[in-house]
Amino acid sequence: MAFGEFDLIDTYFTHRWPKRDDVVKGVGDDAAILTLPSDSELIIATDTMVSGVHFDEQMPARAVGHKVAAVNLSDLAAMGAEPAWLSLALTLPEMDQEWLEGFSHGLREICDYYDCHLIGGDTTKGPLTLTVTAHGFVPQGTALRRDGAKPGDWIYVSGSIGDAGLALAAQQRKVQISDSHYRRVLERLYFPSPRVALGQALRDIASSAIDISDGLKADLGHILQASNVGARVDVDELPLSLALTESVTAEDAIRYALHSGDDYELCFTVPESRRGVFDTVLARHPAKPTCIGRITSEANKLRLERNEEPWQGADEKGGYDHFG
Ligand code: ADP
Ligand code: MG
Repeated sequence: MAFGEFDLIDTYFTHRWPKRDDVVKGVGDDAAILTLPSDSELIIATDTMVSGVHFDEQMPARAVGHKVAAVNLSDLAAMGAEPAWLSLALTLPEMDQEWLEGFSHGLREICDYYDCHLIGGDTTKGPLTLTVTAHGFVPQGTALRRDGAKPGDWIYVSGSIGDAGLALAAQQRKVQISDSHYRRVLERLYFPSPRVALGQALRDIASSAIDISDGLKADLGHILQASNVGARVDVDELPLSLALTESVTAEDAIRYALHSGDDYELCFTVPESRRGVFDTVLARHPAKPTCIGRITSEANKLRLERNEEPWQGADEKGGYDHFG
């Protein structure tokens, strides 16, 4: 008998999956039954990856599985949530068991790591499209939001930014980089690490947070807009990897960090009054947050500076083209 939809669900999305105590019924009924922790708020995020739009045939199936979960977990991280459950809507052009093996493996690895349980989904035939919905919790009233930044707050970015953008540019042959740097940045494009632990640690420290999916400039812009504030950012403080700084000019590296997305780091603000706690608790966090500037009262105004003067690089001709 041919391998059908139910064999697929059974083989790749039911067995071998971790179990959580709060899943009363996961895959296998019309809907999932879940136990909610008391005094919590449910945090839900959905993200879709479409073949030919968000990824191409070059991307290994395992990476697709990892990434579609990672981008959702990153949204939960940016809210300070603890991940719990995940559902998957899978649209496939054909039954491709090799691809499904890789995809489900990548998905399961990251779910296992964060103790996030696949609780259901949907399977349909059509152009390759993956939609994941991730569910998590925060203690009531503690979610990190975009609208809490205040003038005087310090702005931080975790890890390093611009690497995934460099990988994409290298893949599209817009820039030439060494094999070792390419391997490093491609890992970031294909297997992003959502800052789940950092997000939760920031719950009673940060005044606002967002994950960087579209580039620092755009995503910090969302904080500024939601919080009705401005920002000064010192371009020389942006956290850049060696792979990035050794692959392009210093000014281009800054442009990658500002304009390219897909790094899934967190950008967040810390009030002066919480800075002592932040420095004590998180300065040595593995996600290595870097202070890049300060929130101002000028609504929606992002000032990019070098030595407290406006950064000239933003106006240089051609600077944006690689990223458009
Ligand atoms: P229904 O017809 O009632 O909507 P389905 O036949 O679509 O149910 O799904 C049967 C069960 O398998 C449900 O529990 C559903 O959540 C689960 N499921 C279907 N597709 C997937 C998938 N891609 N990943 C995980 N669970 C899935
Ligand atoms: Mg049904």
